[in-house]
Amino acid sequence: MVVVGKYRQTGREVKLRAEAAEALLGLMTQARAVGVAIIPISGFRPVAYQESLFRKAVAKYGSEDAAVRWVARPGHSEHHTGLAIDVGDDENPACDVEPPFEETQAFHWLQENAAQFGFELSFPRNNPRGVNYEPWHWRFVGTPEAKQIFRI
Ligand SMILES: [Zn+2]
Repeated sequence: MVVVGKYRQTGREVKLRAEAAEALLGLMTQARAVGVAIIPISGFRPVAYQESLFRKAVAKYGSEDAAVRWVARPGHSEHHTGLAIDVGDDENPACDVEPPFEETQAFHWLQENAAQFGFELSFPRNNPRGVNYEPWHWRFVGTPEAKQIFRI
């Protein structure tokens, strides 16, 4: 795993597999060149960390069935692969991991340009997996191996 940055002031390191990290760093550099500041929020997550996120979501949404619309069950998150990344807009911290992220410059730029770097949106609106729309969550499918991991 390669560190692609730290999440704002938390100091928490965000890591991805090498090939996804390289692609993301290239993407962030190109976006910055046109005044769009994309930041990493969350990349690789170990199963134990996902477990704590899932438990918090069950407490918040009342049941496991309700929670899975928001947080993947431990062992099932794309973040375990090291090929998925949650990103934010540096200038809009209030939009971090929130639906209004889709109104940021960062999201608009990603929609136009992310594919060029091998990234695609994992959970578009009305996705067949029934996961809520997550405009901040992108996965790297830029190599045959990465595609194989996501079985697409
Ligand atoms: Zn995510």
